[in-house]
Amino acid sequence: MWKVQLFKLNFDEKEAQAVQDVISSGWITMGEKTIEFESRFAELIGSDVETIAVSNGTAALHLALLALGIVPDDEIIIPSLTFVADINVVRMLGAKPVLADCTSYDDWNISPNDIERKITPRTKAIMIMHYGGYPCEMDLILKLCKKHKLYLIEDAAHAPYSKYRGISCGAMGDIGCFSFFTNKNLSVGEGGMVVTCSNDLAEKLKYLRSHGMTTLSYDRHKGRAISYDVIQPGLNYRIDEMRSALGIVQLDKLPEAQYQRKVLVEDYIDKLGNIDGINIPFLYQLDNIDYRPSYHIFPILLDEGIDRLKLIESLKKEGIQSSIHYPVLQEFAAYKNKGLTETPIASAISARELTLPLYPTMTKDEVDLVLEALKKGIS
Ligand SMILES: *Cc1c(COP(=O)(O)O)cnc(C)c1O
Repeated sequence: MWKVQLFKLNFDEKEAQAVQDVISSGWITMGEKTIEFESRFAELIGSDVETIAVSNGTAALHLALLALGIVPDDEIIIPSLTFVADINVVRMLGAKPVLADCTSYDDWNISPNDIERKITPRTKAIMIMHYGGYPCEMDLILKLCKKHKLYLIEDAAHAPYSKYRGISCGAMGDIGCFSFFTNKNLSVGEGGMVVTCSNDLAEKLKYLRSHGMTTLSYDRHKGRAISYDVIQPGLNYRIDEMRSALGIVQLDKLPEAQYQRKVLVEDYIDKLGNIDGINIPFLYQLDNIDYRPSYHIFPILLDEGIDRLKLIESLKKEGIQSSIHYPVLQEFAAYKNKGLTETPIASAISARELTLPLYPTMTKDEVDLVLEALKKGIS
């Protein structure tokens, strides 16, 4: 149906073989493949992080808040231009989400200045999201956390390859959360990873992931344990071996896939130069050694006069799929009129944002198709 899809899986026989091997091995729940996936992901992140693989990115965020001891009425500062999982997990714990605005029309990440304005004596944590895999201004954010003694959770769902001043996104806060959902840079269908540099938190996270139990069925299968105790309440947020095996293959492919994404984004940017009405965010991060973005998506900001709905329809007619990242959280029925503060820059960006197709196997000819359709739709 689409000439150019928003996203395409980067899968081949290698993924199929990896899943087949797990099935043939006779052990499909969390075991050796998961241990390997966790240690390979730790290598990618570096900084001596501990890694805890989980069933999805939302589970990762939920576990992060639980491990940090967030309780009802604690205030958590989050961006308003983010995926809804961030506010959902805060609300599911009965905690209070406090929304902070974007920094500017060039930097769509959460504004450190606005974070500081929103801090109160009830603030317990800041949850940031590296939009599109473009790192947040971490020096400023870490300074705030230190000054006000706040926990920092990084929603790094877009940022499994991103670095800020040489350090991986997800490894700078207390806990980092990754998603391996289908359309993420590293896809396994449903999967996620929690990372932390704290041994204490890692231990808590492991208990929370698996019913608070002291041993896994894998240890009992291997004869390493006979029984188990439950030392705290917990959940079942485990990943399975098929997903972990897919994750390992996807990790092998990541550097090449990231290179392709970068080449495509540079091609987009070069060619967009001669289309009026289009603005590109985060340009300050390109060719700047302080930042290594993961190019998770390719977002553009339309000039105010452009009718976005009409443009999306016109792109669709040309076979080009596009998307919006994101409606601001205040717009959803669940969060409308719930006393959340306004975030004017985020709202303006959200109303004019358009995400164009981007995936590692995309060709430059496909970039041209997208841009021809875009030109046509705007004029
Ligand atoms: C995908 C995503 C999540 C949630 O991850 P799931 O694996 O789909 O649960 C959270 N935050 C952001 C920014 C995301 O893009």
